[in-house]
Amino acid sequence: MTDALQIVLAKRPVGDVNGDCFRQETVAIPALAEGQILVRQRFLSLDPYMRPRMSELHSYTPPFEVGKPLTGGSVGEVVDSRNDRFAKGDTVIGMLNWATHTVHDGKGLRKIDPAVAPLPAHLGVLGMPSFTAWYGMKHICKPKAGETAFVSAATGAVGQVAGQLARLAGAKVVGCAGGEDKCVWAVREAGYDACFNHRTERDYGAVLDRLCPQGIDADFENVGGPIFHAVFARLNNFGRVAFCGAISEYQDKEPMAGPPKMFTIVQRRLTLQGFIISDHTALMGEFVNEVGGLLKAGRLKSRETIVEGLARAPQAFMGLLKGENFGKLVVKIDA
Ligand code: NDP
Repeated sequence: MTDALQIVLAKRPVGDVNGDCFRQETVAIPALAEGQILVRQRFLSLDPYMRPRMSELHSYTPPFEVGKPLTGGSVGEVVDSRNDRFAKGDTVIGMLNWATHTVHDGKGLRKIDPAVAPLPAHLGVLGMPSFTAWYGMKHICKPKAGETAFVSAATGAVGQVAGQLARLAGAKVVGCAGGEDKCVWAVREAGYDACFNHRTERDYGAVLDRLCPQGIDADFENVGGPIFHAVFARLNNFGRVAFCGAISEYQDKEPMAGPPKMFTIVQRRLTLQGFIISDHTALMGEFVNEVGGLLKAGRLKSRETIVEGLARAPQAFMGLLKGENFGKLVVKIDA
C-alpha cells in the first residue's frame, strides 16, 4: 500500500492565516481494523467555516487539533473495506482529512452515485453550500414577488444559489461581490437584478438606496460587518434575515459590534435567525429533489474554482478568505 499525503494544522493563526499554519506530511497508511474503510480521495471542499475551527475557541463545532490533519467535505472512492456498509469501488462523501487517503470508520459517510453529476458538484451545487442556500431562503428569507432580497458574497458557493432561488421565487434580487467579473456573472448568468462591487464601492448605504429604493425585505447574510450594518438599516417592516455567516469577521482578533439602533428590530418587527445547516439534515432529500430538479431543467447555474493538487490547498484556502475564489472552491486531489 502507498503512503498518504496529508496536511496538518501546524499552529493556530492569530489574525490572518498564513502558510506557517499548515504542514504537509507523508504518513504510512495503517492496516484496516474491523469496521474501517480506506478512502482514496478525489476532491476536497474548502469552506469558510474552517477558519473559525483553526482557532482555539469552541464554536458550534470543536476546533481542529494542532498537529492533526485538517478535515473537510470530500469525495472519494473506497479502495479497501472491512465495513459491511461499504464495498470496494463505492463512491463516498463526507468529512475526511485534507489528505490523499483517509482511514475511516464510515460513520457520517454516505454513498453517492457518480453518474448523477460530476464529483465536484456533490460538494457544491448538489452539496452542503447549496443545501445551506436552499434552507435559508426557503425557511427563513421566504422571498416573494414584489419583494426585494439581498445576498452578500453573491457569487460564492452559497450566495450564487441563494440569489437564484430568490429570483425563482419572483423577488427582485440584489447582491454584492468582490470584483467586476463576479458582478457581471451575477447579473448575466445568475439573473440578479443588480450587483455591486464591495471592494470599489465605498458608501454601502448610498449604493443600497440606489439599487433597493423600496428597501429590503429579505437578507441572506454571508458576510457581516459594515455591509450587514448598511443592509440592516434598510430592512422593511417584517423583514427577514437568514444569518448564514460573517466571513468578513472570521479573521478579526476581537468580535465586531452589531449594527447600531437595535430597537429597529422591534419597530420594524424583524426576524433575525441564525442557522447551522447540519441541524437540518432530515431535509436533505427534499433539497436534492428540488434543487436537483432545477439543475436538470437548466434553471440553475453554478460556478466553481478547481485547484489542482492537495499541496495547493493551504494557499487556496488563504485565497478564499480574500475572495480569490469564484464560486465553489474545490481541490482536485490526485493531480
Ligand atoms: P464562498 O465560496 O463564497 O467563499 C467566500 C467568499 O466570501 C469569498 O469568495 C469572497 O467573495 C467573500 N469574502 C471573503 N472575505 C470577505 C470580506 N472581508 N468581505 C466581504 N466578502 C468577503 O463561501 P461560501 O459560499 O461557502 O460561504 C458563504 C458564507 O456562508 C460564509 O460566511 C460561510 O461561513 C457561511 N456558511 C454557513 C453555513 C451554515 O450552516 N450556517 C454553511 C456554509 C457556509 P467576494 O470576492 O465576493 O468578496
